[in-house]
Amino acid sequence: MICDNLAHIQKTIARSAHKAGRGPGTVKLVAASKTVQPDAMLTAVRCGQMVFGENYIQEAADKMVRLPVAIHWHFIGHLQSNKTRQAVELFDVIETVDRWKVAAALDSHARSFHKNLSILLQVNIGREPQKSGVLPEAAETLLRKIAGETSLRVLGLMTMPPYSPEPERSRPYFRALSQLAQRLAALGLFADNDRVDLSMGMSNDYQIAIEEGATLVRVGTALFGTRQP
Ligand SMILES: *Cc1c(COP(=O)(O)O)cnc(C)c1O
Repeated sequence: MICDNLAHIQKTIARSAHKAGRGPGTVKLVAASKTVQPDAMLTAVRCGQMVFGENYIQEAADKMVRLPVAIHWHFIGHLQSNKTRQAVELFDVIETVDRWKVAAALDSHARSFHKNLSILLQVNIGREPQKSGVLPEAAETLLRKIAGETSLRVLGLMTMPPYSPEPERSRPYFRALSQLAQRLAALGLFADNDRVDLSMGMSNDYQIAIEEGATLVRVGTALFGTRQP
């Protein structure tokens, strides 16, 4: 089942990338595995999935010891500054940096571990009061400070648009994130301004996200099935 889902998602990714005039290799699938048991994750690994996204530090730590060390881990949950040390120890990419305090703490831990840490800036592109993420108009200032004062590698931007059961509703938000990334890249603020990552799109709207330029899609339900609360 998981392997069939994975094959279907990979095919859909390739089709959406093609539609946008891009190669299938330009989009990476991040398997969003919160609440998913290690055996199910191991099934996905056996079928070729090597990048996983986790939302909770302790849950991730508990599962990591039971899974292959070659897995590439992205942190996609809300990060509190008192959890940044563990986040740096456990994860390869932190996708949800949205304020200076967290960026500074990650940088200080990354330096002490001699780790070249990659991050994404999470942007609250829909300006929802209950959501994490830097507001679009504040992204440049935060990014300038991170680029100027830390050794963090800022790969690009991440967002979660306002939820809608209608995937097309997400398109303007994805487009806005892509345009914001282009503007910031023109200012030279990312680690590689010719190849800026856009982490956007989940189970119900990843096709639209890819059409609008996503390079990372975070898919949980479509791969592992409905989560138990
Ligand atoms: C859970 C989660 C996803 C995956 O959502 P699905 O709808 O299950 O694909 C993606 N991104 C983040 C930040 C998540 O928390």
